[in-house]
Amino acid sequence: MTPLHVGGLTPLTATDYPGHLAAVVFCQGCPWRCAYCHNPHLISPRASAQIEWPAVMQFLARRVGLLDAVVFSGGEPTLQSGLAQALSEVKAMGFKCGLHTAGAYPQHLTPLLPLLDWVGFDIKASFADYEHITQVRGSGNSAEASLQALLASGVSYECRTTVDLQFFDSKKLIDLAQSLAASGVRHYVLQTCRNPHTLGSQYLTQVNEWLAELANTIALSFDTFVLRPA
Ligand code: SF4
Repeated sequence: MTPLHVGGLTPLTATDYPGHLAAVVFCQGCPWRCAYCHNPHLISPRASAQIEWPAVMQFLARRVGLLDAVVFSGGEPTLQSGLAQALSEVKAMGFKCGLHTAGAYPQHLTPLLPLLDWVGFDIKASFADYEHITQVRGSGNSAEASLQALLASGVSYECRTTVDLQFFDSKKLIDLAQSLAASGVRHYVLQTCRNPHTLGSQYLTQVNEWLAELANTIALSFDTFVLRPA
């Protein structure tokens, strides 16, 4: 079994698994190429590991009783065949297991679901529009199949969309929210895109204000809805 290829470790976060104190293990490698990727250094599966998996386990052993959970983020964690073993090892230490995924590999995600306590699932756009963002043909079909597997599993989750004005207007965003609700999504988050080209500009304020105006309409479609401005 190939050990998990780790691109980074955040020792403590209160935001990556809502309601939990967690460490975040960043998994190296992603098959998609989103222009606004916040972690582009994690895209290449061939980049050198920043920390070896046994060292991550040694760190976690010192955090038993202090942390609630470990979140596997990326990159796209389900790219790696070593993820199932890593989840099992972390669970055996008594931690809850969270996963951040965009659903690129439904055939990998499905058998992992029984090991997971919570999933943060990225929804890039309507599934028909995925290729414009990921630059990978068929990515929308993969994401849709992964979302259906997640919803059918009963695992706790949030679906979240990172909003970049390049890809969304009000109609597209409301249509997306309504189609997700029709697919069975009950918990939804909208967050403002932060990329190096927009930070420090008036762009963030503009998007935050626009999303705040749409929030009441979109919230009607879900049991829980959260706005995460940048
Ligand atoms: S799916 Fe996520 S990690 Fe992969 S390129 Fe897109 S934003 Fe980056």
